[in-house]
Amino acid sequence: MNIEAKGLCKSFDGFRALDGLELRVPQGAVYGLVGPNGAGKSTFIRHLAGIYRQDAGELLADGEPVYENTAFKNRMAYIPDEVFYYNSATLADMARFYESVYPRFDRERYQKWGRLFELDEKRLMRKLSRGMQKQAAFWLALSLDPELLVLDEPVDGLDPVMRRQVWSALLADVAERGTTVLVSSHNLRELEDVCDHVGIMNEGKMLLERSLAELQENSVKIQLVLPEGKELPPDLQILHSANVGRVRQIILRGRVEELTARVQAASPLFMDVLPLSLEEIFIYELGGAGHALKDFLL
Ligand code: ADP
Ligand code: MG
Repeated sequence: MNIEAKGLCKSFDGFRALDGLELRVPQGAVYGLVGPNGAGKSTFIRHLAGIYRQDAGELLADGEPVYENTAFKNRMAYIPDEVFYYNSATLADMARFYESVYPRFDRERYQKWGRLFELDEKRLMRKLSRGMQKQAAFWLALSLDPELLVLDEPVDGLDPVMRRQVWSALLADVAERGTTVLVSSHNLRELEDVCDHVGIMNEGKMLLERSLAELQENSVKIQLVLPEGKELPPDLQILHSANVGRVRQIILRGRVEELTARVQAASPLFMDVLPLSLEEIFIYELGGAGHALKDFLL
């Protein structure tokens, strides 16, 4: 399923939580929506979940408006930032409830995922810890076999071991089924290993939206030592240059193969091509905004 937000706006008492948000999630992507607290991630996600209706702009799933779209709702699952369950329900009760409400609920998947989470189905939901409730939310959402899975800060409250287990099981499953995933976090490092697309939001707007391949392809870091008297070709787009002893480190805008070949033409004595770190992407791709945001996101 593909998702598209065009100029999405939402205000609360005159405060613009979404301010012309542009966002594109391609079919089958694992999309990380990243931004500092208050950026508007949950507000956007609540539009996708059908809880809010935008003041202006469009939100489309496979080209159809999302709001009050029952067919869309039946194809997606959503784990909110704060999970809420009826106090007197057990997990088994919740599963029966989901089965009665959602046509896509799949008992076999429910059994399969149960082996990962090791939760006691007979315990009351309110007696589960916050982390266990999050696990229960994952379990139920995955049992729906959704085409789109929307997760709002899902690993908050999970311990590191469970985090890894949940992510690896989830990624294997979505890869096998081609599920489209949108997952939010205030921590970019949390998502960098699991996402193939990243959107960085701030103050209700999209600052930068890229596929991981694009992030890594559009700029490159080269360390080199040039022979005495040799210079780099003059028309290279150098974003940054620094010398450490005789080694020069440059960050260039452009494609790796082409840049490597052009730098090679200066016959370097030594040359090493490296991907940009996240921190460097922030500084050189986002400039001043990146400087300000990196402290919040990394
Ligand atoms: P994030 O999830 O990125 O941390 P939110 O979408 O929760 O950000 O919030 C974005 C901004 O909108 C914040 O300033 C928040 O206080 C405000 N906001 C969100 N929901 C409401 C609401 N229901 N009423 C008033 N203000 C809200
Ligand atoms: Mg939030």
